[in-house]
Amino acid sequence: MPDHRTYPKLVVAPAPYLQFENARFPIEIRRSTRASRMKLRIDPRAGVVLVLPLRVSVRNGLAFLEQELGWIAGKIGRIPTAVPFRDGETLPLLGVPHRITHAPERRGLVWQEDGKLFVTGRAEHLPRRVRDWVRASARAEIGRRADVYANMLDIKPKGISLRDQKTRWGSCSSTGRLNFSWRLLLMPEEVMSYIVAHEVAHLRHMNHSPAFWKLVGELHAGVAPAKKWLKTHGAEIHKYGVEIEDGL
Ligand SMILES: [Zn+2]
Repeated sequence: MPDHRTYPKLVVAPAPYLQFENARFPIEIRRSTRASRMKLRIDPRAGVVLVLPLRVSVRNGLAFLEQELGWIAGKIGRIPTAVPFRDGETLPLLGVPHRITHAPERRGLVWQEDGKLFVTGRAEHLPRRVRDWVRASARAEIGRRADVYANMLDIKPKGISLRDQKTRWGSCSSTGRLNFSWRLLLMPEEVMSYIVAHEVAHLRHMNHSPAFWKLVGELHAGVAPAKKWLKTHGAEIHKYGVEIEDGL
């Protein structure tokens, strides 16, 4: 039996993650219609992945995970760490690294400057301020691009909403509303704009037909590299802004 103190600690609220020394490791819970039993694996991008059959509750899944902490401890070097919105962490804003920098003495709220994201105010408000800023910036950047593409098609979306869906970066409803993940702000510009062009093109074609892809190609010059980037790096984007209460 290995020394229990060297095991990571499971923290359940507000979202489950593992605390090990000074690092936090995200846990992704996936539901599977095909899995007949609970499974645990390490994904180099998503982190600790817990696969649960539909009939198993999250609570029982986490109890199972807790029994496997020794196994997880042995793999800790392969697990990506979570990047909460915290002083000193680095966010790739439109793909460009920006270090979150608490500046309690400065005036203003949140702004970008020389590879830094300055945040004023009290330390305990910093995570929320960063989150609000990221969402507002994502909305502005996405909205601007959606307008450009929609104008090219002489079409108008019914509205644009931001979501934090784990499974998709964007979607288009049958009523003409576009939804996007705020996490697009953490992708390179060409990738963000591809996703926006893709969803705007759905206002014309509600399918992935050859006509749809032709239209996407007319709106955006870098479809193939953007899709490749998403396939390789998309999952990494979920490690940012993991909600972690750390008693600041
Ligand atoms: Zn699509």
